[in-house]
Amino acid sequence: LAEIDIKLFENDPRLWTLPVRTAQEHKFDAGHCVVVSGDPLHTGAARLSALSAARSGAGLVTIAGEREALLVHAAHVTAIMLADIGDAPALRAMLEDTRKNALVIGPGAGIGEATRQMVLAALESHARLVLDADALTSFADQPDALFAAIGRRAPESVVLTPHAGEFTRLFSEIEGAKTERAIAAAERAGAIVLLKGADTVIAHPQGRAVVNTTGTPLLATAGAGDVLAGLIGGLVAQGMGSFEAACAGAYIHGRAAQLFGKPGMVADDLPGLIPEVLADLS
Ligand code: AMP
Ligand code: MG
Repeated sequence: LAEIDIKLFENDPRLWTLPVRTAQEHKFDAGHCVVVSGDPLHTGAARLSALSAARSGAGLVTIAGEREALLVHAAHVTAIMLADIGDAPALRAMLEDTRKNALVIGPGAGIGEATRQMVLAALESHARLVLDADALTSFADQPDALFAAIGRRAPESVVLTPHAGEFTRLFSEIEGAKTERAIAAAERAGAIVLLKGADTVIAHPQGRAVVNTTGTPLLATAGAGDVLAGLIGGLVAQGMGSFEAACAGAYIHGRAAQLFGKPGMVADDLPGLIPEVLADLS
């Protein structure tokens, strides 16, 4: 780490440019974000991600999962598409459609071999990725397998969004202050690492880091991180760079919670506030 020239910035809308729609825009121009679902008893997390991707402005959003899980989703969503994708080979085949340009996996996905195989299949696709939650924890005992697969991809095409516990499980040997830990992890993983919590740090493998100061302790609630992962996936689908999308996502996520601004916030409150924040920023 000593050799890395750390450049630290406070997150600010001047650091990134949000997608804008042109007069002739077609929905496929605004990207297609795929969100991988959990099993039938764990569908809510993927739904929060999918709704957030859609509210970020992505042209199309698809939840991919096993049929029983899709039946649960079908009772809750309308504009989100559902794709019967039960395993890694099916996901690989789905992602051969290059219009599906962003993928979020991890929220509610379950920890273990099935999720590992889905993540590895996604890493072999052209889609840019947001890996969160169980997608990270599933590699806790074999992080090098994850980092090697990331290393075979285009640079800056993967964002990891661990909370403190997920970070420690994946990067057990990295110690120090939060910013330095995030940067060391980004370098080790070869990915953008967004280390969550109050003062989220977004670190680039080349030693740049941004500290996000929007947000409120209201975000310490179940599902808040699933919203963030989907928001970043939606921005990536619309063509933002992965680092810029991670910075913008953290900023917008925090501002949405601030707009809610009262006790009792649940993650379901957040996706609908994303458009308010986007309007303030445009
Ligand atoms: P997760 O733990 O995956 O649900 O993610 C929680 C989300 O809420 C992350 O985006 C955190 O940065 C955010 N968050 C949690 N606690 C706080 C806090 N005390 N202040 C600001 N943001 C927080
Ligand atoms: Mg989470």
